[in-house]
Amino acid sequence: MYDKSVPFDAKVKWTKKETRDTFTCALKINNRDIQKAYRFLPGQFNMLYVPGIGEAPISISSSPLDHDLMHTVRVAGDVTTALSNLRAGDMIGMRGPFGRGWPLEEAEDLDLLIVAGGLGIAPLRSVARHVLKTHAAKKRDAHQRRMLLYGAKTPKDIVFRDEFPRYRDIFEVFLTVDRADPEEYWRGEAGLVTKLFDRITFDPRCTLVFVCGPEIMMQNSGRELILRGVPEERIFLSMERNMNCGIGMCGHCFFGPKFVCKDGPVFRFSEIEGLMGIKEL
Ligand SMILES: Cc1cc2nc3c(=O)[nH]c(=O)nc-3n(C[C@H](O)[C@H](O)[C@H](O)COP(=O)(O)OP(=O)(O)OC[C@H]3O[C@@H](n4cnc5c(N)ncnc54)[C@H](O)[C@@H]3O)c2cc1C
Repeated sequence: MYDKSVPFDAKVKWTKKETRDTFTCALKINNRDIQKAYRFLPGQFNMLYVPGIGEAPISISSSPLDHDLMHTVRVAGDVTTALSNLRAGDMIGMRGPFGRGWPLEEAEDLDLLIVAGGLGIAPLRSVARHVLKTHAAKKRDAHQRRMLLYGAKTPKDIVFRDEFPRYRDIFEVFLTVDRADPEEYWRGEAGLVTKLFDRITFDPRCTLVFVCGPEIMMQNSGRELILRGVPEERIFLSMERNMNCGIGMCGHCFFGPKFVCKDGPVFRFSEIEGLMGIKEL
């Protein structure tokens, strides 16, 4: 094992611009022992540390079965700007993985509905890639339905745009944008991601739902899903809070009685519904 409270070196293998303000980078852990011991689950995050600037929690956007360890970052402030300036060969610090991931084991016998808004697709891309890879390996779960709903602000803000055709091999994929300028070519839906619930028919009694996006989008998705009959226990949300330590020590990410860093970031809806201000359905 290694000490997760101490950053270790990670080298940037490559970077890729996804949208005007978002990019993906692949990291390689330098130390061979840590590299061997490092294991993560879809939905977990790392603390990425840029020397002299600071540290930020960033979800892992690749699957544990991917060759590369990827993070997808939107420029927000100092740390994410510094991360966006990294090039192949640069070195940063990393700690992790931290937190509770998506309960993929619960998806074994259920249909899976993924609902993502904006950059909320990053930790869910880890799930989508993982399902794609394990499906290819198993080839025995053809009866299960998988649906992926994704909403972005405009067509230009769609992250991982070039990957959706591959997801269509096993997911029913629906994309929407809040608005498309007339000069932009867009054949898909327009409107909020929750509008896509009307585009799919699914059996709420046997569907597991993973949701990640802006908090208001997750509140509305939770409400809509419950109205459609999905049990609260089958809905999972990934929460974001400012955090420092990542290990439940500093108290920055308190969410009611819970810590987002170690009790989450993925929570069962029934655990946090009261904390999200959803009183009446
Ligand atoms: C578990 C977890 C996973 C995350 N995964 C990703 C990811 O995959 N990709 C990504 O781009 N970002 C992710 N974030 C958000 C990311 O950590 C912040 O954008 C980053 O810390 C901002 O740091 P900064 O120094 O660039 O900007 P700062 O100057 O620290 O912040 C810029 C602005 O963003 C706000 N902000 C900072 N952190 C958060 C936060 N956690 N929640 C809400 N607002 C915040 C600040 O209040 C400020 O207004 C995640 C956050 C958490 C808690």
